[in-house]
Amino acid sequence: MTESFDVVVIGGGVIGMTGAWRLAQTGRRVLLLERDRTGAEASSAAAGMLGAQLEVSEPGPFYQLCLESRSLYQAFVDELLEYTGVDAQLNHNGIYQIAFTQDEVHALHRRMEWQIRGGARAEFLSSTEVTNEEPIVAENYGALHLPDDSNINAPLLTRALSIAVTQTCTVVEGVEVTAVQRQSAAGYVISTQSQTYVAGAVVVAAGAWAQRLLPSSFPGKIQPVKGQLLAIRPRQATLKHTIFNDHAYLVPKRDGTIVVGATEDRGAGYNRDVTVDAIQYLLASVKRIAPRLCDAVFERSWIGLRPGSSDPHPWIGQLAASPGLHVAVGHFRNGILLAPVTANMLVDSVEGRPWPTHWQAFQPERPSVESGVTR
Ligand SMILES: Cc1cc2nc3c(=O)[nH]c(=O)nc-3n(C[C@H](O)[C@H](O)[C@H](O)COP(=O)(O)OP(=O)(O)OC[C@H]3O[C@@H](n4cnc5c(N)ncnc54)[C@H](O)[C@@H]3O)c2cc1C
Repeated sequence: MTESFDVVVIGGGVIGMTGAWRLAQTGRRVLLLERDRTGAEASSAAAGMLGAQLEVSEPGPFYQLCLESRSLYQAFVDELLEYTGVDAQLNHNGIYQIAFTQDEVHALHRRMEWQIRGGARAEFLSSTEVTNEEPIVAENYGALHLPDDSNINAPLLTRALSIAVTQTCTVVEGVEVTAVQRQSAAGYVISTQSQTYVAGAVVVAAGAWAQRLLPSSFPGKIQPVKGQLLAIRPRQATLKHTIFNDHAYLVPKRDGTIVVGATEDRGAGYNRDVTVDAIQYLLASVKRIAPRLCDAVFERSWIGLRPGSSDPHPWIGQLAASPGLHVAVGHFRNGILLAPVTANMLVDSVEGRPWPTHWQAFQPERPSVESGVTR
C-alpha cells in the first residue's frame, strides 16, 4: 500500500534530521527515510567544530550564513537536551589559529581585520600569550583567537537528533530511496526497493550520495570527499582551546579526549579504509602543533565522507523546475555548523515564504558565487 505524507525527507544525517524535526514542529506529517541508521555517515564522523569565523576567508553571504547558524546553536542544543535528554556537549572553548611562519601571521591579521570591521570578536595573541594559555603548544609566532567559535560532540548531536525525529516523524531506517518522480501538480512518488510513498514535498538531504536522487537539471555535482580523523586521550597536560594550523586541528572534547583531524581526499570516492598515510599525517600534526601530547593514549581512528560539490557552498531550497522538490546538499566541511540555519531555510522553502537576501545566494538556481571558503 502506498502511504501518504506531507513531506518526505531522504537522508538521516544532521541536515535531514534537523530539517525533518523542524518541519514536523510546523504540524506537518513527515517521513524520514534513511538507507542505514540515522546519523551513520558524515554527521557522526565530524570533528564538530562550529568554526563560523575559522572556515571563511572573506565577508559575504556564506560568512553571514555561518554566523547566523552559530548564533542558533545554544538554543538548538538546549532544546534538544530538554526534548531528548541527550546533551550534545556544546563547548564554548574558542579557537586558536596558530601561526608557525610570518606569512601565516600576515594572513591571520587580514582575516582578523575584516572580521572585526564586520562586528565579530577576534584578537591576535603574541606567542607568549599563547604559551601562557596553552603551555603544551609548540613554539609559534602567535595566534588568531576566535573566542566565539566553539565545538560540539557530533556523535551525541546525532544521537539527540535521532531521538527527536523518532518522536516527531515517521522514521524508516535500512531503506534506500531509488527514485523520486513527479506524479502530478499535487506531489511526488518516492520509491524504495520495497515500498512507494507519496508526498506533496520532498527534501533530498542524502549527503555524499545525493547526486543519484537529483534531476539531471540540478546545476551542481555532489561528490564524496573522504576525511580521516583520530582521537587521543592526554595523560596529563591537555588543551583548553581548539588549535588549528594548516588544515590540521586538535579539538578538545568535554569527555577529556582530543579529536585530531583531518585529511581531505577528493579522489577516494566512497572508499572507507583508514590508511597508514593518513594516520601518519595526523600523528605528525599532533607532534608539530603540541609535541607534549606525544605520550597521549591513542583511542581510535575513523573516516567520514563529506558531501563535497563542484561549488564550495551548499545548495539549499526548492528547485525552480521541480516545484515541491527541495534540496539541502553539499555542506562539505560545515554541515554540523550549518544544520540549524539550513533547517530554518527548509521550513521557509516548504512553506513558500520569501527568503532574506543572504539566503538567496544558496538557492540551487543561483548565479555562481565567489568561494569565500578557507582553503
Ligand atoms: C572528517 C570530517 C570532519 C568534519 N568536521 C566538521 C566540523 O568540524 N564541523 C562541521 O560543521 N562539519 C564537519 N564535517 C562536515 C559534516 O560532517 C557534514 O557536512 C555533514 O555531516 C553533512 O550532513 P548530511 O546530513 O548532509 O550528510 P550525512 O551525515 O552523510 O547524511 C546523509 C544520509 O543520507 C543517507 N542516504 C544517502 N543516500 C540515501 C538514499 N538513497 N536513501 C536513503 N538514505 C540515503 C546516508 O545513509 C546518510 O545517513 C566534517 C566531515 C568529515 C568527514
